[in-house]
Amino acid sequence: MRVLGIETSCDETGVALYDSEQGLLGHELYSQVALHAQYGGVVPELASRDHVRKIIPLLTTLLAKTATRPQQIAGVAYTAGPGLIGALLVGASVGRSIAWTWGVPAIGVHHLEGHLLAPLLETPAPTFPFLALLVSGGHTQLVAVRGMGEYQLLGESVDDAAGEAFDKTAKLLGLGYPGGAALAHLAEQGHPNVFHFSRPMTNRPGLAFSFSGLKTHVLTAWKSQENPSEQTRADIARAFEDAVVDTLVIKCRRALKETRLQRLVVAGGVGANKQLRHQLQVLGQELNVKVFYPRIEFCTDNGAMIALAGCLRLQAGQQSPLNFNAHPRWLMTQIDATYSQLKS
Ligand code: ATP
Ligand code: MG
Ligand code: FE
Repeated sequence: MRVLGIETSCDETGVALYDSEQGLLGHELYSQVALHAQYGGVVPELASRDHVRKIIPLLTTLLAKTATRPQQIAGVAYTAGPGLIGALLVGASVGRSIAWTWGVPAIGVHHLEGHLLAPLLETPAPTFPFLALLVSGGHTQLVAVRGMGEYQLLGESVDDAAGEAFDKTAKLLGLGYPGGAALAHLAEQGHPNVFHFSRPMTNRPGLAFSFSGLKTHVLTAWKSQENPSEQTRADIARAFEDAVVDTLVIKCRRALKETRLQRLVVAGGVGANKQLRHQLQVLGQELNVKVFYPRIEFCTDNGAMIALAGCLRLQAGQQSPLNFNAHPRWLMTQIDATYSQLKS
């Protein structure tokens, strides 16, 4: 089964073709980062308009590059939520319309399910059940994934997501927006243990996270420097990254021990962080747990993960009705309820 995937939940327009037999056939991505950078954050209305401008050219390129005729496509998957409502509606209306025109089923995919299943695009792919650490720009969650749609939330951030903390801290240190990757890059030049920031919520039981206090600690450390050198900035970046990574690793260790799951999947933009990938690999070796990641480009938003998740849903006979909807807020436990089952 060959499925077209469309992602427009935030500031990336992504399209992809996934084939259940041959795997990923191709994908195209356009990032609006440059558009929003001048405002220091994503401007929702500008995001919607840019998706409108880019989506059809991206689809045309994808079909041309993969030499695909519409008749070869058996279904269309689009991100239905959570995300910015205007941005979501662009992908949802284009996806739903294409599916109707081509006479194939459409499926509205949950964006976080897309992130969670992104490692299934790789070889070897993780099998169910697994523990997932979802660390994106908007979410930090530990989820026990027992099967498609069987998601048990074990813990999440009570305030900022890890990616959000990276971006806000980067901004404080003058690294622009969104600066998560730039901050990680700067941290590579930093020396460890020059500064030390606490590992929030690790000294009490449970699997919740809190990252909003960290940026205040960074701000205090940064402001207290009289003539901070570039090395000092790098040392602070390093201490921040170490604190976030350590915290995530401590909670993963705890969750793995509690659930006794044998596989750990890391997904979302912060999953691109080298230090985190390394430390979780070390943890995996210690606990005899196999660790899976998507390739770096599929950690952040993309169409490939949506095509894959949609393909699995459609293969299970699920689809979204013609009177489609987008859900800016959508719990992962309520995904199945939005689908109708195909009569076989
Ligand atoms: P959500 O999926 O929760 O709606 P999102 O789609 O905006 O949020 P992603 O695209 O998965 O989030 O990830 C973007 C985040 O990843 C940003 O916050 C960015 O700073 C962070 N990020 C990207 N690369 C790195 C890196 N190397 N180190 C740390 N953080 C990173
Ligand atoms: Mg983004
Ligand atoms: Fe995302």
